Amino acid sequence: MELAKQKVIDAKATKLEYIAAYMSPYQDDLIAAGHSLQFKLQQTLDIEGLLNTFCEECTSIIPCASVAFRNDEHQLFVYAGEKHQHICRYTLEIDHETLGSIECSSAHPFNEHELMRVEHMLSLLLFPLRNALLYHAAIASALRDPLTQLANRGAYDQAVEAEISRAQRQDNGLSLLVVDIDHFKSINDQYGHLTGDQVLKEVANRLRLALRKEDRVFRFGGEEFIILLSATHLPAARLTAERIRMTLTATPIKALDLNLPVTASIGVSEWQPNENANTFFHRADQALYGAKENGRNQVKAA
Ligand code: GH3
Ligand code: MG
Ligand code: MG
Repeated sequence: MELAKQKVIDAKATKLEYIAAYMSPYQDDLIAAGHSLQFKLQQTLDIEGLLNTFCEECTSIIPCASVAFRNDEHQLFVYAGEKHQHICRYTLEIDHETLGSIECSSAHPFNEHELMRVEHMLSLLLFPLRNALLYHAAIASALRDPLTQLANRGAYDQAVEAEISRAQRQDNGLSLLVVDIDHFKSINDQYGHLTGDQVLKEVANRLRLALRKEDRVFRFGGEEFIILLSATHLPAARLTAERIRMTLTATPIKALDLNLPVTASIGVSEWQPNENANTFFHRADQALYGAKENGRNQVKAA
């Protein structure tokens, strides 16, 4: 059962309810929960943290078993608690700027009184949530390469540490590819940097499309890309590298009004138990160096 279909909660609309809540002598618990919520929401900029706090504080005054938040623009879907059958759903806005939609669930249908309480609590979530979204966007943009929209080297540094910890726990392999475009400088020299940029963008697209969703690709710098292959041992990593090399060379790359054939060399390494991120990368980079020495347009494994 769904109630209050996509009703909008915004800063203006909820001020009235806020005042109404203060006027009623029966709402002391709501006022106390609101103060407690406001205080706790100030303590984090993490969206998941905000929702967990919201869910916990709501539970003290309404039967709210779970909260789910969705923001498509930021590709965010965050939930806290365990979902039940009865749902109320709202759009959250500040000055017509949509923050996303939120859904609360309960084992019993929400009554009017409870919905008013949910709405009051949601009104307190608006500004902390907006701040958390801005923070999230700033962090995401600091970790993204603006030309190709791939994750950048900073993102790689974080991801490789997380992947190494995972590989250490799960013991199911982790491999790394270093992909470097061959003679890229001559594309810049012959056709100019704008053409070079177009080639980099298309290479990034082809890499993205060639991978499974659990693999991650990064622009490491210049015309060099890194791919982290989760749960993958060396033989499968070599095959993936070969497939990627062929994807890049299969058809010439369209850049402005040109069709440019591009090749790449790829170094591969598989993470060894207890190895740190530096040597894991260094071995793949050495293998790449070997592939270049050996004539380019090929895969070499460490
Ligand atoms: P190799 O086959 O040995 O890898 O040769 P290469 O020419 O690809 O390698 P080199 O390291 O000599 O040149 C890389 C070039 O990439 C030099 C640099 O100007 C260019 N480059 C780096 N970043 C960008 C970028 O963002 N846009 C463009 N257009 N060029 C870039
Ligand atoms: Mg190169
Ligand atoms: Mg290079």
